[in-house]
Amino acid sequence: AKQGVEADGVAFYSEDMNQGMHERMRIESGLRHALGSGQLMLHYQPKFSIEDGHIIGAEALVRWKHPERGLVPPAEFIPLAEATGLVVQVGEWVLEAVCAQAQVWKRAGLRPIRLAVNVSAREFTPALPARVQDTLRRYDLEPAWLELEITESTLMHNIERVIGIMDRIAALGVTLSLDDFGTGYSSLSYLKRFPIDTLKIDRSFTTGIPGDANDCAIASTIISIAQQLKHKVIAEGVETVEQMAFLKRTGCDEVQGYLFSRPLPPGEFERALQEKGWARAATA
Ligand code: C2E
Ligand code: MG
Ligand code: MG
Ligand code: MG
Repeated sequence: AKQGVEADGVAFYSEDMNQGMHERMRIESGLRHALGSGQLMLHYQPKFSIEDGHIIGAEALVRWKHPERGLVPPAEFIPLAEATGLVVQVGEWVLEAVCAQAQVWKRAGLRPIRLAVNVSAREFTPALPARVQDTLRRYDLEPAWLELEITESTLMHNIERVIGIMDRIAALGVTLSLDDFGTGYSSLSYLKRFPIDTLKIDRSFTTGIPGDANDCAIASTIISIAQQLKHKVIAEGVETVEQMAFLKRTGCDEVQGYLFSRPLPPGEFERALQEKGWARAATA
């Protein structure tokens, strides 16, 4: 009732907020429905070793196959899912779907290809290691089939607890990588305590290579930190041969990007494994 006597500008503003809220609620209930009705799907983007070009894994990236809007990219629903907590259910679906896919590929005779799952801060709870272990067991998978990508925002709160969870995941033999590295605020002093396998150079830095001196400096600094801490380092978003040449020269271990492959639906990924010879390393 108080708000009813406010000036017009305020009333207009709150109506605006109301619309934003309705839009969010619409997406949220749509996503809830999507989870239960098979509208989520995964694309897989391969990661390659720079040294010999063999495939070392693939990142699973979620998409929403919306009946009216077509294929909705994660940027349009993951941030909202993170805000509402629904990302926990999305994450459970993704882990389940990735392991089901891995089981199919394992039964087809492939050696383990590390399939990387993006894990949000809200999913990174003490219950996660047991869930990962249980899922691997249910699908009869070696831990070498799985990797978890976590972002720096996961590391910003309750660091001791986070390290405890990471240690339990690493103890399973599942590898961890630090995604979007360099875009957050993680303290370098903690970096040596994380049981991580790989640092991922964020695409925002890769994009500026080789023209932007700052991006080149940041990328080579991340590569050097990784080397000194005995972590591997991968660059995401590699689109040009010039970027690739710089990364190779600078000592980067792995690459991922449109230059090699876009994220592919499972069937196309499988075909590319066969036709492009990616599978040679995986089946040898
Ligand atoms: P990310 O984990 O950093 O994933 C890399 C993004 O860069 C992907 O976008 C990928 O398609 C895109 N990318 C890869 N190579 C290139 C390239 O050469 N050029 C360009 N322009 N882009 C490239 P995508 O699939 O739209 O995913 C965006 C973000 O959404 C991801 O960033 C990740 O943070 C989030 N996400 C995706 N799937 C999941 C998921 O299953 N769970 C959670 N929690 N987040 C997810
Ligand atoms: Mg990622
Ligand atoms: Mg990334
Ligand atoms: Mg990124």
